[in-house]
Order: sequence, then C-alpha cells, then structure tokens
Amino acid sequence: MPAIRKILVANRGEIALRIMRTAREMNIPTVAVFSEADRTSPHVRYADEAVCIGAAPSSESYLHVDKILKVCRELGVDAIHPGYGFLSENAAFAQKVKDAGLIFIGPSPESIEVMGSKLAAKQAAAKYNIPMVPGTPDAIDDRDEAKRIASTIGYPILIKASAGGGGKGMRVVENEAEFDEQMDRAVSEAQAAFGDGSVFIEKYITSPKHIEIQVLGDHHGNIVHLFERECSIQRRHQKVVEEAPSISITPEIRAEMGRCAVDVARSCGYYGAGTVEFIMDEDRNFYFLEMNTRLQVEHPVTEMITGVDLVQEMIRIAEGHPLAFAQDDLRLNGHAIEIRVYAEDAANHFLPDIGTLHTYVKPDGNGVRVDDGFIQGMEIPIYYDPMIAKLITYGEDRETAIRKMIRAIDEYQITGVQTTLPFCRFVMEHNAFVDGSFDTNFVARHFHPDLLNTHTGRDGAALAALISAMLDAPSAGRESVQNEPVSITASKWRARRYAL
Ligand code: ADP
Repeated sequence: MPAIRKILVANRGEIALRIMRTAREMNIPTVAVFSEADRTSPHVRYADEAVCIGAAPSSESYLHVDKILKVCRELGVDAIHPGYGFLSENAAFAQKVKDAGLIFIGPSPESIEVMGSKLAAKQAAAKYNIPMVPGTPDAIDDRDEAKRIASTIGYPILIKASAGGGGKGMRVVENEAEFDEQMDRAVSEAQAAFGDGSVFIEKYITSPKHIEIQVLGDHHGNIVHLFERECSIQRRHQKVVEEAPSISITPEIRAEMGRCAVDVARSCGYYGAGTVEFIMDEDRNFYFLEMNTRLQVEHPVTEMITGVDLVQEMIRIAEGHPLAFAQDDLRLNGHAIEIRVYAEDAANHFLPDIGTLHTYVKPDGNGVRVDDGFIQGMEIPIYYDPMIAKLITYGEDRETAIRKMIRAIDEYQITGVQTTLPFCRFVMEHNAFVDGSFDTNFVARHFHPDLLNTHTGRDGAALAALISAMLDAPSAGRESVQNEPVSITASKWRARRYAL
C-alpha cells in the first residue's frame, strides 16, 4: 500500500481536530468536510482544505456518503479517517471507500460487519476460549423458550439489542412478571434506533465494572494490546469518566484480559485500532461484551500511559506498515484520567443543555491535556453529540492524576451552558472513586444533585467574569446566562444524538 498523501476526516469537533493534528505532524495534508452548523468550528479552520457539504442534520452532511466521496475525487484525497460515531462503524461505507479506490483508515468491512452485531461478535469469539456472560446465543424468536432460559440463568436479566450501541435497546428485567413488557419495549426501541429488532438475553451483573482493552493490529497478522481502560463511571449506561490503568485488576488479570482481547481481534482478522469491552463482576470474573471497531472517545488515556499516538499508528497501519512494536515492547507508565465535558445538566438527570459558550477558558499546565472542538463565543449545536471537550490529566500515580484533575476542573471556566464539570469534580473527591470500590451503579448509588458544588472554581463565577472581560468577549460580566432555562425536550434530543 502506498504512503497516504491526503486525508479527508469524515467527522467534526474534537476528534476531527485531534486526527488532523497527528496528520500534520506526519506531513499529511487534511480535508475537512463540514455542515452549515459548523462553519466556524476549529476543525474547519485547522484543515488544509475545507468543504461545506450540506445542512446541519447529519443525514445531509456527516452521514452523506456520496457527497463525501465526491469531495475525495475532486480534491485528490486518497484516504478517509472516520473518527468515531457517524460513519465509523458502517461496513457499507468502508466497502464503498474501498471500491472507490481509497484507503479506509480503519478495519476491513468484514470485521466491522461481524463486530457490529453483538451476537455475531460472540459467535466469532466463541472459537477462542473467551468468557461470555451467560445468556441466549441467538436472537430471541421464541419467547417461552427465552423465559425458560431466563429462569435458568436467574433474574435479574438484561435484554439487549444485537445491533445496539449507546445503551439503546437495553432493558433490565427483575422478574418473570415483567418479562413480556420489557421485551416489547426493547424490541421496539431497537427497531426504532437501528432498524433491527433482534434482541438477546444476558445475565444482569448487578455490581459490574466496565473494563476495556485497546488493541492494534496490522495487515501482517500482528496484534498487540495496549492495556486496559476503566470506564465504570457512567450515566445512562454511557461513560463519563475513564482512566488507565484500572485500580481494580491485578497484573495477572491484565495479562489474561489482554490475551482474550487479542484473540477476539484475531477471531475477525482485525487490523487497525479497536477496543474489546469486558464487564467484570464482584469476584473479578470478567466476560466479553462487545468490540468497537474504531478509535474510541477515551483513547487519550491509553496514549498517555503508553506514549503511543494511536492515530499515527492507525495511519501507519493503513499504509501497510507492520506494527513498530511487539507486545513485550509496550510498558505501562503512570496514570491517566479523562473526564468528558458534556453540555449536560447533572442536576437535571444529565439532560443535554444548549446555548452559547459565553466564557470558555481551558485549563493548562503540567500533566493536563484538553481535546476540544470549541472556542469562546461558539454555540453548542443541537444536532450533534453535546460533548464540548475531553479533559485528560496524567501523573506518576493515580493520586497525582486525581489531584491534577481537581485542579484542572477548577481552572476550567465555562458559562452559558451547564456542564458535567461539577459532577466530575464530585466523582474525583468521592471516597468510592478514590478507594476503587465504585462500579457502574456509581451515579444511582452515590449521586444526588444536592451534593453538587456548582461553583467549580474557588470563585468560579467571579473569575469567569474577569477573564471574559479581559478577553473582551461579548458576554463579559453576564454569568447569569448560566441559569437560562432549557427549552428542549429529552425526546427531541434522543432522536438527534448519535451513539458512540
Ligand atoms: P452499548 O453498545 O449500547 O454501549 P454495551 O454492551 O457496550 O452496550 O454495554 C454498555 C453498558 O451497559 C456497560 O458498560 C455496562 O454498564 C452495562 N451492561 C452491559 N451488559 C451488562 C450486563 N450483562 N450486566 C450488567 N450491566 C451490563
């Protein structure tokens, strides 16, 4: 495969910018495609060339395959990086890119296809000795049979959509009396969200940890893992705080989980960057959940502890290079934590918030990395995922990384929208997080909006106003916008969000 000469980034926001930065370091020019809602976005300005491909709704822009391929032809692009979300796990898109004579910076369409179905993924992985959550091996077509299996496994059970993502189509069933009702809901939710109503059953692990392994594979059959990420702090079954390494596993579990992850990747002939997700119970038994065949939102924590630039590796792999390192060359150094700064109101069930970033001043300093796609004065568009930024801190150990995170959160000044910053600060200071006894039920078990200190800084509002005035922003001194009511309904948002 030839060296890549120009990359089109089929994405937006922080991940588009993050990919372009590495491409620039590699002297590869980039093309941004953007929607009308993103005209002023940093990723559009940063790219060497940028083309507006349509209106704000994703279907008319970021998901519009023909328009994206047309830009590639017109601008002499030879490779596409899909980022995460949007077209990144769309096997038909990967195939079309290939058919157009372009390089898809990611796995083969076949790998995406197999791992895109949770059931097909389990069947592929079953060829290796990979632990699975007890459950039904196929999509349920006979409810009575499914109920029999459920009572053998023992309640509570979880109904899951095979095509699932973003926590959609997932229903906990506490007892047999609820079975039919929850099954109806899961099927219709899966049908509406994915156009595929296939569901299956898993035992519901009541106090689980979500731990995942980063893998990299090349076109020469080499596959390595880059250790784990701990992602158990979630709301709505979706991650909000991630870290590497996990406080909960031993070197032995790490090695075994790593072996399983590499085998899952091998089971579908994987190349590129991917993530194998596991769930771990209280007795530290772990089970394969699914594989994500793309760059993951939380990949920076792995970069911090391994020193590997995952986007650079993805590009090198796509160019046909063998991996530059073997498993034994990889070392785990220090500790990294990432928090996702969403425009969401933790005090109001984490509902997405919209508005203008009247003040937007990022933290800085030793051990702090911010991957974002906004600048002060921009609006958070209603059309896309409401993540503003990822704040990552790195320290020689977990305690240092936590201390740096609290300091960085306190420095982060955002007014105009509610964010997850106060919630994440709450997490950093909570005993269950500090001592590692947390699981995916952290929010339900420990969090209540009354516990939030909404002033993230020592005197957050005053400092924000001062900085705002210094920068001569139009919002100077108008912190009150922070409290403007949100007029958007949850259902509207659900329809517009894309799942990561
Ligand atoms: P999605 O693809 O929709 O994100 P996943 O299978 O990755 O779905 O699961 C997302 C989250 O749901 C997990 O991180 C975990 O919190 C929870 N979950 C999934 N399967 C189980 C299970 N069998 N028992 C308990 N919790 C689960």
